[in-house]
Amino acid sequence: MTIPLLVAAWNLVTMLAGVHQPSNFSSPMSESGRVAVVLKSRGEFEFREYAVPSPAPDAIVVKMSRCNICGSDIHLWHGSAAQLQEGLPQILGHEMVGTVYRIGSKVETDSLGQKIEEGDRIVYTYFRPCGHCHFCLTGDANCPTRHAHWVGVSSDDPPHFNGGFGEYYYIGPGHSVFKIPDELPDDLVSPVNCAAAQMMFGLRKIGIRPGDAVVIQGAGGLGLYSIAMAREMGAGKIIVLDAKPERLKLAEAFGADLVLNVNKTKDRERLVTVLKETNRLGADLVVEVAGFPPTFVEGIKMLRNGGRYLTTGNITQGQVSFEPAEIVRKALTIQGAYGYKPHAIPEAMDFIARTRTKYPYEKLISHHYSFDDINEGMAFGDEGDAIRVTLDF
Ligand SMILES: [Zn+2]
Ligand SMILES: [Zn+2]
Repeated sequence: MTIPLLVAAWNLVTMLAGVHQPSNFSSPMSESGRVAVVLKSRGEFEFREYAVPSPAPDAIVVKMSRCNICGSDIHLWHGSAAQLQEGLPQILGHEMVGTVYRIGSKVETDSLGQKIEEGDRIVYTYFRPCGHCHFCLTGDANCPTRHAHWVGVSSDDPPHFNGGFGEYYYIGPGHSVFKIPDELPDDLVSPVNCAAAQMMFGLRKIGIRPGDAVVIQGAGGLGLYSIAMAREMGAGKIIVLDAKPERLKLAEAFGADLVLNVNKTKDRERLVTVLKETNRLGADLVVEVAGFPPTFVEGIKMLRNGGRYLTTGNITQGQVSFEPAEIVRKALTIQGAYGYKPHAIPEAMDFIARTRTKYPYEKLISHHYSFDDINEGMAFGDEGDAIRVTLDF
């Protein structure tokens, strides 16, 4: 095991950090590769070409196979992270899968100790915790500089390939890397290092007990994984809310017992429905994966006394007014989750492999675009009709 495996805990909602870490790579090789960059919020993506670096002894250069357009990329593109402006041009993209293109001289295995070599398919954390700050050392929460190699770092800075929207990706020390089992095709793995690992980590943290009534707010990629995982963890009734009929149909295909279209129902009606479906008690667990602040207020109301709330979609700013006494009087547990511990990646891959005949995971990647057509792909993803748009390389 030669890629340092930094094990820390990431469960606190923190700001994307913008501190540069020292570069650690050697001189460029002769090949070059393209990246797609943005120069301003909601701006067109432009292509830039850079020499592909040789990996440092403890690094890997990946040839990208797929990079998805995740909701967080769309938020970043909208300008949600101020740090983005500090290092233009910026490469976005973080939900990705690729093959080992060049491997550092000291890298022999992945983070689980499995042998890896050039040509192997791998999936890896898009973040790189520092390993020595308070949060890394205690394991309590997210390392504040875990995105420092990427967000706010110009693509002009070597090793250039610091984001997923590029033909190559540079995995420096601090990332965790996992070989992909042969049985899992790229389309089933490309959402693993964000959506699937995030839900695996979040749902384990909040816990599900046999028979729990679960409400899931949002039926995008995170919500659909949540249905499968909650079911396999022993959930009883699963109720899913979303505004898009196609997503709700997919939620049913994943096994939701009841779906509610938030555009076609009133708040009160949804609350009454949840109460009716739970013996007038309320849900044991509400999972927020919608990224829409008012869902928080509704989710709290839907919980029974002693209920638990997992919120992982509301990653950008937005305010709501609510009654804190409701949390106290109902003795609720509120858990935020943003990022995950690296072990969630192999756990998510095992989970998908084990249950792939039960859930239509292949439908999570609803639309394919060529990397050349990233602007069309982003525009379509922004409309919100796709579950996941993926860019093919
Ligand atoms: Zn993501
Ligand atoms: Zn740290």
